[in-house]
Amino acid sequence: GRDLFPGRDNSKGFDLRHRPTMARIDAARDAFARHRWKGAPLVACDAAAGPREERVNPAIPSDIVGSVTWATAEQATAAAAAAQPWDASAAERARILNAAADLYEDHFGELFALLHREAGKTLLDAVAELREAVDFLRYYATQAEGGVPRGTFACISPWNFPLAIFTGQLSAALAAGNAVLAKPAEQTPLIAWRATQLLHEAGVPATALQLLPGAGDVGAALTSCPDVDGVAFTGSTETAQAIHRAMAENLAPGAPLIAETGGLNAMIVDSTALPEQAVAAIVESAFQSAGQRCSALRCLYVQEDIAEDFLKMLTGAMDVLVMDNPWNPATDAGPVIDEEAAEGIRAYVAKARKEGRVIKELHAPAPGHFVAPALLRVPGIKAMEREIFGPVLHVATFGSEELDRVIADINATGYGLTFGLMTRIDDRVQHVTEAVHAGNIYVNRNQIGAIVGSQPFGGEGLSGTGPKAGGPHYLSRFRAQPADEPAE
Ligand code: GLU
Repeated sequence: GRDLFPGRDNSKGFDLRHRPTMARIDAARDAFARHRWKGAPLVACDAAAGPREERVNPAIPSDIVGSVTWATAEQATAAAAAAQPWDASAAERARILNAAADLYEDHFGELFALLHREAGKTLLDAVAELREAVDFLRYYATQAEGGVPRGTFACISPWNFPLAIFTGQLSAALAAGNAVLAKPAEQTPLIAWRATQLLHEAGVPATALQLLPGAGDVGAALTSCPDVDGVAFTGSTETAQAIHRAMAENLAPGAPLIAETGGLNAMIVDSTALPEQAVAAIVESAFQSAGQRCSALRCLYVQEDIAEDFLKMLTGAMDVLVMDNPWNPATDAGPVIDEEAAEGIRAYVAKARKEGRVIKELHAPAPGHFVAPALLRVPGIKAMEREIFGPVLHVATFGSEELDRVIADINATGYGLTFGLMTRIDDRVQHVTEAVHAGNIYVNRNQIGAIVGSQPFGGEGLSGTGPKAGGPHYLSRFRAQPADEPAE
């Protein structure tokens, strides 16, 4: 890595098995165990904001995390008019983004507390998320030089990575010298608000980075505002399609949409796979973050000769999963983001239960928006109509002659985000990884947790537009394209 990216290292993160480190983490986050944050739009215009609303912890509904003042559509439009591309030199932009990364690391206790209490993220997830956010800042800073910014970007980010993806989108746009209008998910405005304050404190000008916490109306105002020159979006495929239509009607022709959307991710385990390794990788891929990652494993294919024993091991591994308050360092899976999400997933599993397709279902703690991890039988990925964004894993079996049919079915979903393969046959690795259409393919390991700079992350087909986040081509879409060169 060193030679490819001179001057940059990935964040070291925290080793949770190291007792003194855990003690430091506990002390730092304990200071924010009962803190109440008070977020608001951070804008460079004086249009009126909307109402204020309390935010609660998805694991403990009686825990009030704070309150947020919502932005309004009018405020979004006024902020777009007030936006000023960041006119500092590339070296200065890089220096400030690196300073912001340092501030993020300095504030780890507060950010972990917010990730637990506002987003329901476990400690393991919070550590990984802070690392990824810091990595994005430092990685895009190395690419600040070169090219001309497009102008103003709307960055619309999801609640499942409320710090990392929020920061990744805006730091790419800022590194290239654009102005940013950031619209975080309505479920996680406080983390975004605190991160934006740190970016401003590091030196990003208030006109170059504005924050508009709000619901869909704020996003819609941004993506149909002629002062906006491009949109970065992570979320559902349907919303991406609606944004695309709004942009086509209202923005200048050629304004880019950089979208990262859903997936129906599969893994194939053949009879030569190491079962212990496969089971551990499957449990992480399907249930870590309570399955709320676009990269998460949704449909597992196990070769039929080993299926019976293999599923015994898998359900045994599920039995020892800890579902609890994310503040508990032993928690493997926390709650899902809100009650609406929980109800949708529970209803889906209830239907499968009626159909006799539940192989294994754990018990969820209460209260809080917990959903019990479940393993459901399906004939194949074709039977899955949509992505279920939670701790639900589907399993199908395949015969030794059916591998190519399985690959064809996986490709036929139209999605192409992540894919996993567990095998010890070298020729098969080559054959399968060439045949499957997916942005991120993982062999003999878990299929979540791409690392900035070494595993650029992004999908094909219905899963995204490319270029991949955390990779060498991402920033090019945030820059004006020479008129005689087609955009990639
Ligand atoms: N980059 C994350 C991963 O590799 C997933 C991002 C997402 O869920 O949007 O697990």
